Amino acid sequence: MKHVSDYFGSLVFDDRVMKARLSSEVYQSLKKTIDEGAKLDLSVANAVATAMKDWAIANGATHYTHWFQPLTGITAEKHDSFITPAPDGRVIMEFSGSELIKGEPDASSFPSGGLRATFEARGYTAWDPTSYAFIKGKTLCIPTAFCSYAGEALDKKTPLLRSMEALNRQALRILRLFGNDHVKCVRTSVGPEQEYFLVDREMYEKRRDLIFTGRTLFGAKPPKGQELDDHYFGAIKPTVAAFMEDLNEELWKLGILAKTEHNEVAPAQHELAPIYTTTNIATDHNQLTMEIMQKVAARHGLVCLLHEKPFAGVNGSGKHNNWSISTDEGVNLLSPGETPHDNAQFLLFLCAVIKAVDDYQDLLRISVATAGNDLRLGAQEAPPAIVSIFLGDELNAVLESLENDTPYCGVKKTKMKLGVDVLPKFTKDNTDRNRTSPFAFTGNKFEFRMVGSADSIACANIMLNSAVAESLRVYADYLEQAPDFQSALQEMLKNTIKEHKRIIFNGNGYDDAWIQEATLKRGLSNYPSTPDCVPHILDRKNVELLTGQKIYTEPELRARYEIVLENYCKSIVIEANTMVDMAEKEILPAITAYAMELAKTAAAKKVLNEQITCAFECERVKTLSALTDEIALKIQELKKSLISLKSTETVCEESAFIRDQVLVKMRELRVPCDEAETITARKYWPFPTYGELLFGV
Ligand code: ADP
Ligand code: MG
Repeated sequence: MKHVSDYFGSLVFDDRVMKARLSSEVYQSLKKTIDEGAKLDLSVANAVATAMKDWAIANGATHYTHWFQPLTGITAEKHDSFITPAPDGRVIMEFSGSELIKGEPDASSFPSGGLRATFEARGYTAWDPTSYAFIKGKTLCIPTAFCSYAGEALDKKTPLLRSMEALNRQALRILRLFGNDHVKCVRTSVGPEQEYFLVDREMYEKRRDLIFTGRTLFGAKPPKGQELDDHYFGAIKPTVAAFMEDLNEELWKLGILAKTEHNEVAPAQHELAPIYTTTNIATDHNQLTMEIMQKVAARHGLVCLLHEKPFAGVNGSGKHNNWSISTDEGVNLLSPGETPHDNAQFLLFLCAVIKAVDDYQDLLRISVATAGNDLRLGAQEAPPAIVSIFLGDELNAVLESLENDTPYCGVKKTKMKLGVDVLPKFTKDNTDRNRTSPFAFTGNKFEFRMVGSADSIACANIMLNSAVAESLRVYADYLEQAPDFQSALQEMLKNTIKEHKRIIFNGNGYDDAWIQEATLKRGLSNYPSTPDCVPHILDRKNVELLTGQKIYTEPELRARYEIVLENYCKSIVIEANTMVDMAEKEILPAITAYAMELAKTAAAKKVLNEQITCAFECERVKTLSALTDEIALKIQELKKSLISLKSTETVCEESAFIRDQVLVKMRELRVPCDEAETITARKYWPFPTYGELLFGV
């Protein structure tokens, strides 16, 4: 029996390996770079590179790659082998410090949103020493940032690191005001809960929609759905259990803290949650987790679907981004403290988040905008597209008393005078957790639930970190000038609550009445789709925030705007083309063949005996023929809309046209196809149904 503790992190060039394989000077100097961002000189890099290479070779690696996260949302790698020819005709294995620090992948095929003209196609990758190198297969993977030659970020890691730095800068200013001089750095941590579906590989391969788009574009509701709620936390099937066991082992070897796994609400849906860690590492790990899930599934005759909405009418998949802020001493700044002093500080950070989420609700919505996620947000299962915060009754009451200078009626009456009163102990009641809120406080962290299952968590955390950094900056600017810290603080938080309490909502986010209240009464923004929200990334206040906090330059921001919309358009055009293809080449012929069989049967019966009525056959053939006519018509309409799409000029127009025309035609085509499925003999239907995919029957 292998013990987990024996192989956990065995494929990671982590602190333990570094300590063992580097001289103590090199180790100290690398550590300084990792912990404090100190510059690394080439001699140190050379020593690290050699140690890394020797360790990698000892663990079976032959190649290395700079592993990065271009704006496609997945990870990219270009492998180089370690071999270098030796004069005697043999090879030696080499890897230098400069190869470790910098790489030059041919970047022309990665999206750049116009940031990099093709004639200067090359970009470069730069080592991120804060995220450990690891071995995947036979390749040493070095986590890197990806930039253009002019230094513009072409990836998701660079802005994420910048946003962490921004938050660190501002949070330290606040901590100093509270007399906290020993804290060296403040970081955000994330634990992303990943949802996914597992389906049988053979069935998957029979569905071109799943292969090309990751979701089903057709499919009638099966007789049984998720009505019985019998899958949630239900017993895990043996095939799935074997998959999970194998997956855990792979993840553990990579030092990924896979912790919890369970069945989710929908049939065939599951969830994996790691133990939280520093945000950029959590992001790298989540990317790796998604990749490895797919690889391991293949070994078990399964396919892992990460799409946000693989099946209509069945719950979709998201990623709950559990987020907190803590110091290098391990103090969680979002945890209510034991002393009045701690509590004042806690309330400040809490209010900073409330202000940030209200001021930049649109950016949070934008950070999770994809074609796939649009299908999930707003359905009655995922948080709505409207951003709001759930605090829970107790914390809500505390804020109310702070706002109104009234006593807080908790277990013991306390007046919420900051720095004097102790916060009441909150009961962390798990049964009362609000599952419908997009942004919920869960005791000592916030859970942002709008992130899509297939998406990188980088964007959500970039926006979150940046927005909170901005609240903290405003607070610090004010408090640093204040003659009396305590009273200024009290006044400032009171104002925050007054100004921003509209974002706090403890009710049911799935309720239609909430949409009315949120938009009409509270003036919160509601952007149901990607084309609705993404253009707002260029709103003045958002550009000011993101350039002011040095997260993006304006050209970088414009590039992202282009890429997100382009991505949206491309994925839906692929879906539309796949629908046309499947409807024309599979669905229409199947229905026609079945109708033909019925017609032949009726004719044969009539030959046998004129008196046989054949009412069923006749009626069914009539219905099926009407449906095929309808399908053919809808195919034409969809094709027409795709042709018109070509005459749109900007990506903004294109995405709006897709939202208003193409998607409508796609939905219209699906209706008669799904109806035909319900009345076509099973053996004629050209691909596995929802029942077969979800229940194996
Ligand atoms: P659930 O939300 O399912 O009840 P938990 O609250 O225990 O489960 O944890 C969910 C996720 O939140 C896990 O990935 C966990 O590591 C993460 N998490 C727990 N505490 C924190 C924290 N302080 N900061 C960030 N993430 C956290
Ligand atoms: Mg959760």
